[in-house]
Amino acid sequence: MDYISNIPDKKTKKRVVIVGGGFAGLTIAQKLDRSKYQVVLIDKHNNHQFQPLLYQVATSGIEPSGISFPFRKIFQKFQDFHFRMGEAIAVDRANNMLETSIGIIE
Ligand SMILES: Cc1cc2nc3c(=O)[nH]c(=O)nc-3n(C[C@H](O)[C@H](O)[C@H](O)COP(=O)(O)OP(=O)(O)OC[C@H]3O[C@@H](n4cnc5c(N)ncnc54)[C@H](O)[C@@H]3O)c2cc1C
Repeated sequence: MDYISNIPDKKTKKRVVIVGGGFAGLTIAQKLDRSKYQVVLIDKHNNHQFQPLLYQVATSGIEPSGISFPFRKIFQKFQDFHFRMGEAIAVDRANNMLETSIGIIE
């Protein structure tokens, strides 16, 4: 399987790959020191969903776009941050690799 394309090689920084841009993934992605780490966020969807207001959408109180935020917009000003839409399939712990529906990443 090929590597996920267009993610620059890690040079001096370590790479942190986060699977899932829910509350947990978003928080860690925002808090990691990107002068020390290259951050790659992988989610099977393009958007973060604010689940606590899901009921408002279900009851036609607000539009779906009111609880759905594109990852690329959230992180547009972040340096050395890379979002890729894909589904994580398996973790190869021995080789420090993640297999996804769009390729592998170290
Ligand atoms: C209707 C509703 C109302 C809620 N209200 C509240 C509330 O009022 N207060 C509160 O504290 N909590 C509330 N919660 C709970 C809260 O939303 C969750 O605890 C929180 O979202 C969990 O965050 P998470 O990051 O662990 O997972 P999630 O928010 O579920 O995010 C997981 C992310 O991972 C992605 N993902 C999953 N599997 C893969 C894969 N294999 N490959 C790639 N991406 C993947 C998903 O697309 C998703 O973006 C509510 C939940 C729901 C459903």
